[in-house]
Amino acid sequence: MCSSDPPAALDAASRAFAGAWPATSATERGRTLIRVATGIRARAEEFAVLEARNAGKPIGDARWEVEAAAATFEYYGGAVNKYLGEVIPVSEPGLDVVLREPVGVCALIVPWNFPLLITSWKAAPALAAGNPIVIKPASLTPLTALLLGEVLVDAGLPPEAVSVIPGPGRTIGDLLTGDPRVAKISFTGETATGAQILRTSSDNIARVSLELGGKSASVVFADADWMRAADETVMAVFGNTGQDCCARSRILVQDSVYDDFVSRFADATRALTVGAPLDATTELGPMISAAQRRIAQDYVGIGVEAGAELVTGGEVPDACDPNGFFLTPAVLAGVDNSMRVAREEIFGPVASIIPFRDEADAIEIANDTPYGLSGSLWTRDLGRGIRVARAIRTGVLSVNSNRSVRTETPFGGYKHSGLGRELGPHAMDHYTEVKNVFFSAE
Ligand code: NDP
Repeated sequence: MCSSDPPAALDAASRAFAGAWPATSATERGRTLIRVATGIRARAEEFAVLEARNAGKPIGDARWEVEAAAATFEYYGGAVNKYLGEVIPVSEPGLDVVLREPVGVCALIVPWNFPLLITSWKAAPALAAGNPIVIKPASLTPLTALLLGEVLVDAGLPPEAVSVIPGPGRTIGDLLTGDPRVAKISFTGETATGAQILRTSSDNIARVSLELGGKSASVVFADADWMRAADETVMAVFGNTGQDCCARSRILVQDSVYDDFVSRFADATRALTVGAPLDATTELGPMISAAQRRIAQDYVGIGVEAGAELVTGGEVPDACDPNGFFLTPAVLAGVDNSMRVAREEIFGPVASIIPFRDEADAIEIANDTPYGLSGSLWTRDLGRGIRVARAIRTGVLSVNSNRSVRTETPFGGYKHSGLGRELGPHAMDHYTEVKNVFFSAE
């Protein structure tokens, strides 16, 4: 149901937790989630256009995200009856089993950058495990969560097990995260908000998982196919107009190829098409809001003032609709890792390219950040790939690739980038309690 009343939504969810959904067999829950995937695909274009219009995403990206959301429900629909307990060989005569049981009412708090996709990462494993859910979408982008609510109920979920509550995070968020009926909170957004949620929920000992900010690094060694790295890294920082917690917004390049890399990266950046979300040729849409664009523009100025060189971008393009919050992607070269542009999450299309000397220097710079979410490493030297991948403190790392996120693999951060992991089998652990039962044979 769509509600503007958190207590009413939590009443409904509590009734659902005492009702049929948690007791439904894993196989039947799985079938329901597969019907959700089918329901999303049946309305895929409706979802994609809604997401593109609401979040300002290029329609091609929105279509990809809708399919990825459907695939997430399909994955957990298939996974849930293969999520096994354990039998432990204890020393007493008897049988010791470990059961996984649903945790209870789950509050799912979602940001505006990937509204439907991040909702699906939380809703699918929570529902698969047998929990009722209350979704709190971002105020700027509630529309696809509301449509998903319809699809969930049409697929056969009990209406009381699914609520969507749009509205301001500061009030609705506090009401949800401070309520003793909420057993589990899954949040994605700003690190400061995540810390606030830990405080608000602490009296209730709610289970909390957090996916927070990032300042990830792409590390490009001179021995790599650095031209490919330059071409592909462009979208690893500017995709979703830089509004991506996984954005590799620090690009560390070994000094012997630094100038050539900067030049190629800047050319590839200039070639990106900034335009209207519903134009199929658009690669970068507008930013989410005037305020977010202002922040990005301010950071370009902060970087230049600190001594970085603005190689390209950082301008409001004349050719775009003045009502949209467009900004051309900005490349800052000669950045030192101590500068604010290299330390703070900008959440906009601003890349900082930082030179390094050798392997030890690269590792030190990559780790010199309060964050640890994603990252890439480019090298042809297998030994170096292994050494550096092990040394960088981050939750997700790709070697000779820029993809961070796969439905089947765990995703989440070290340090201030979060707590816990989403996606893959690991996510099911967040939405279940572990119960140990011993059957005496005596
Ligand atoms: P927030 O962390 O403020 O918001 C994320 C979600 O949390 C939204 O649904 C928001 O609601 C809700 N919320 C806000 N305050 C509370 C609270 N006290 N209790 C519970 N829920 C709350 O991020 P923003 O969307 O405002 O973006 C601000 C910055 O956060 C960005 O500039 C970026 O740096 C970072 N960010 C990081 C993301 C990531 O994926 N890691 C995603 C989005 C942002 P409402 O929308 O109503 O405020």
